[in-house]
Amino acid sequence: MTDLTTLTIADARDKLRAKEISATDLAEAYIATVEGGDALNAYSVKTPEIAREQAKAADDRLGSGGAPSLCGIPIGVKDLYCTKGVNSQSGSNILKDFKPAYESTVTQNLWNDGAVMLGKLSMDEFAMGSSNETACYGNVVSPWRAKGSDAPLTPGGSSGGSASALAADMAMATLGTDTGGSIRQPAAFTGLVGLKPTWGRVSRWGIIAFASSLDQAGPFTRTVRDAAIMLGSMASVDDKDSTSAEIAVPDYEAALTGDIKGKRIGVPKEYVADGMSSEIKALWEKGAEDLRAKGAEIVEISLPHTKYALPAYYIIAPAEASSNLARYDGVRYGHRADIGKGDGITEMYEKSRAAGFGAEVKRRIMIGSYVLSAGYYDAYYSRAQKIRTLIKRDFEQAFETVDAILTPTTPSPAFELGSMTDADPVEMYLQDIFTVTVNMAGLPGISVPAGMSESGLPLGLQLIGKAFDEAGLLNTAYALEETAGFTAKPDKWW
Ligand code: GLN
Repeated sequence: MTDLTTLTIADARDKLRAKEISATDLAEAYIATVEGGDALNAYSVKTPEIAREQAKAADDRLGSGGAPSLCGIPIGVKDLYCTKGVNSQSGSNILKDFKPAYESTVTQNLWNDGAVMLGKLSMDEFAMGSSNETACYGNVVSPWRAKGSDAPLTPGGSSGGSASALAADMAMATLGTDTGGSIRQPAAFTGLVGLKPTWGRVSRWGIIAFASSLDQAGPFTRTVRDAAIMLGSMASVDDKDSTSAEIAVPDYEAALTGDIKGKRIGVPKEYVADGMSSEIKALWEKGAEDLRAKGAEIVEISLPHTKYALPAYYIIAPAEASSNLARYDGVRYGHRADIGKGDGITEMYEKSRAAGFGAEVKRRIMIGSYVLSAGYYDAYYSRAQKIRTLIKRDFEQAFETVDAILTPTTPSPAFELGSMTDADPVEMYLQDIFTVTVNMAGLPGISVPAGMSESGLPLGLQLIGKAFDEAGLLNTAYALEETAGFTAKPDKWW
């Protein structure tokens, strides 16, 4: 019998259309894996009743023929997508029990195409973090374990629930968001494909904001083909988001020919970070070799402002966050603390925000308010914006001569939970060294599982594409996936 919980979207779609399986069987199989996965703490809310209802509707629709690719496909949704009537808290106590009265554009697009919602997935609070250790729901655990160890590992962050759930077969695909690497890094840590589209390709309407000029929604999937299918449904031109690009959504799946002959792939010399481990270096070189074997030409390129990307990101992202998070004041939105006798409105704001936000969020609000303050704006925020322009220009120049850029996704495999939280927060920020530049430039990036570390954990390679060339990017990723031949799965211990 087919194991329903390991099928790809593409296979399940074909079997659903051929009536070999039903959406209801699929939903039930996944509801059971979700039930059995509590040890991973990936789901913050389970919605089996919604899943059953949507699966039934999907079966009706499949019965009449011509159903979209996602009809009957069980999906998990990151907690920061607003889902009507279902808790949407962005991993924060300040939004405890917030049940939106509306649906985000992306999730609405998926439900319109017949997808089935299994529940909401835990995440770092307001998407700030790289390890899923700042969620108000507690840590998310990766299903992976290093060879000979049962130490719990991080699934990465901030979309850690999305990564852990999919890697443990608790969804057929999941939704994430990526502001500095939050889809690509967890995908790399858990052996999955993670796609961050071009800024503006996917509507941000109804997605709880972290840093609006960097945030972008994207999918976690088992394969590149599934990523193409998901993006085709998620992406839309949306009147509700004035920054959504007015570019028609192409057929991404049709672009997957695997033919990359004559394509020029850039390898940036500045990404040979100080102290890059030999296994990451070897993985990267092998990826380049694989693409060359497929007929691509590998060329060295320079992205000279890379070294300023992290410091600039950690000014711009907190600045935007401090402004976005100002709305959670216990009046317009959010938890309201009990106030004491004689307290005024200022004390009410202070107590509500002090109780509702966690430490990392408070740290970012303080940094953001500082860099935007009158006395320091020019010294920090303006300079960071100038650096952002230079980073963007580096990519524009590189893309005059290459079609895509190949880099590692992360500087290391997944680390142990707790191993970085006591250290200097900057240690954690370094996780994003290969991914943040892509958000700063608004470009699409994808992480493809490409190999295993000596410790027996997945490693990913990142491909960066030209703005709005997701079709070309996915095709290169498809070629890389084919040659990398990654098939490893975590041993089931949970
Ligand atoms: N780790 C980065 C941060 O903490 C990126 C997070 C993200 O992409 N949402 O800001």
